[in-house]
Amino acid sequence: MTNCLFCNIASGTIPSSFVYEDETILAFKDINPKAPTHILVIPRKHVSTINELSEDDDLTIGGMIRRAGLIAADLGHADDGFRTVINCNKDAGQTVFHIHLHLLAGRTLTWPPG
Ligand code: AMP
Ligand code: ZN
Repeated sequence: MTNCLFCNIASGTIPSSFVYEDETILAFKDINPKAPTHILVIPRKHVSTINELSEDDDLTIGGMIRRAGLIAADLGHADDGFRTVINCNKDAGQTVFHIHLHLLAGRTLTWPPG
């Protein structure tokens, strides 16, 4: 989708700081980090929210979660821990409507989130 920020990041039209990419998944640094490590993991395929996922997306979403764990481990966060979050629609504060998994680490994260 040409009017989607994260599709434009995926295609390279909008520059970003990639930390990982393959045929189906990308990971890049969040532009406004909420923790010392704040990385977004996205599918290349445009899906707006969790509500629009189909069974065909199961492998990709599973791959995004596994990849977040691998990135966290690479950055030294496996033992102290990290958080993965996918916001959906307004009550969760979703602002970019191309599904993305937040990987947050590097400080103690409070629970429950606000
Ligand atoms: P959400 O509120 O769950 O939709 O998260 C959207 C995230 O995208 C926020 O954490 C933003 O800081 C981040 N973001 C917005 N624009 C960019 C960009 N150009 N590059 C990287 N991250 C971005
Ligand atoms: Zn998109």
